[in-house]
Amino acid sequence: MSHVFPRHCHTDLPTAVSGDGCYLIDAEGRRYFDGSGGAAVSCLGHSNERVRAAIKAQVDALAYAHTSFFTSEPAEALADRLIARAPGDLDRVYFVSGGSEAVESAIKLARQYHLERGEPQRRHLIARRQSYHGNTLGALSAGGNAWRRAQFAPLLVEMSHIAPCYEYAERAEGESLHDYGQRTANALEAEILRLGPDSVMAFIAEPVVGATLGAVAAVPGYFTRIREICDRYGVLLILDEVMCGMGRTGHLFACEADGVAPDILCIAKGLGAGYQPIGAMLCSKAIYDAIAAGTGFFQHGHTYLGHPIAAAAALAVLEEFEEQDLIGRVSRLGPVFETLLRDQLGQHPHVGDIRGRGLFWGIELVEDRATKAPFDPARGLAGRVKRIAKSRGLLCYPMPGTRDGRLGDHILLAPPFIADETQ
Ligand code: PLP
Repeated sequence: MSHVFPRHCHTDLPTAVSGDGCYLIDAEGRRYFDGSGGAAVSCLGHSNERVRAAIKAQVDALAYAHTSFFTSEPAEALADRLIARAPGDLDRVYFVSGGSEAVESAIKLARQYHLERGEPQRRHLIARRQSYHGNTLGALSAGGNAWRRAQFAPLLVEMSHIAPCYEYAERAEGESLHDYGQRTANALEAEILRLGPDSVMAFIAEPVVGATLGAVAAVPGYFTRIREICDRYGVLLILDEVMCGMGRTGHLFACEADGVAPDILCIAKGLGAGYQPIGAMLCSKAIYDAIAAGTGFFQHGHTYLGHPIAAAAALAVLEEFEEQDLIGRVSRLGPVFETLLRDQLGQHPHVGDIRGRGLFWGIELVEDRATKAPFDPARGLAGRVKRIAKSRGLLCYPMPGTRDGRLGDHILLAPPFIADETQ
């Protein structure tokens, strides 16, 4: 009998024992093509030589040094490399162990920034419905996914949620893409005005919504308008690229395609590519300077901040991206993958929508293509697709529909960047 507390109590999971490129191999010798990289994590596949060597070398040199006593070479080098590529005036990197910690750090940094500047009344965070920002209580409060929040509602901090930019489901008939994007973005301004412009500290959004909607990017112009609104009211823009960042969409940072730069950017998953648990929060020079000129101390912290082995692994991931031109490869493979998906699934009576960018694709399952009506979530379709695909050697990430009747089942595909056309 297992003593591991699993995600689902009544599943009998195979034991993964090794990895070989895009494949995971279980104890029975079965091979699974990692079509979703876990949950958009394993962007380099499972046996990357460079990353493995970097981890081994770092263990031999230095495994751990607490960040209140020391900085470390890999953390410094990784921060330099990320900032050299980061959009806007992002200038400092705060390394954590994963996505939820990155989002928690971002929320608290936004609050502290306003305190340092003498605006203690700024306390509201506005987020979007059908978003996911992590499972810790602050990040879960920001997330708008009803299913994940339901049980813990009494423990959550009250936050505002506006509509996401979800063109397939929400664009009105006859409305242009541009008008839909502006209308949806303007909901942020309305919410800021409702709460009182001086009381809002930040707005958080995923540039490409991953875990709740399945690779839904905003329509052109949406984020430009969001940026304008944030600037107008002194509201910080936090972009959560934990899932869609790190090359997944064909850009190192997904927001590059939307032509906007955030004040705070959260990344994780592909940063360590699954070889080490690591996430990061990048913040603008203005935010860092406000803290440095004020209390001089970010009132936050975790034991494993800036872990040297994790940083060394992430540095090797970035080196691999550059030397193998893997982000260019994502851009080239993206349209090939899209064509395959549309050719093979586009006409299926229960495929409502296929959307995505780069190697980040979502398939929305509907009962009726004409009305876009989802299946009854009780049927657990996404979970069934996952089980059937796995039994045939393909791993894909299911997102169940929610019981509010609006959000149907989705399947997320996020294959490793090293995958080829045949695979
Ligand atoms: N933010 C987004 C957009 C995510 O997709 C996730 C995880 O799926 C998280 C945050 C939380 O990251 P983690 O599971 O590493 O805590």
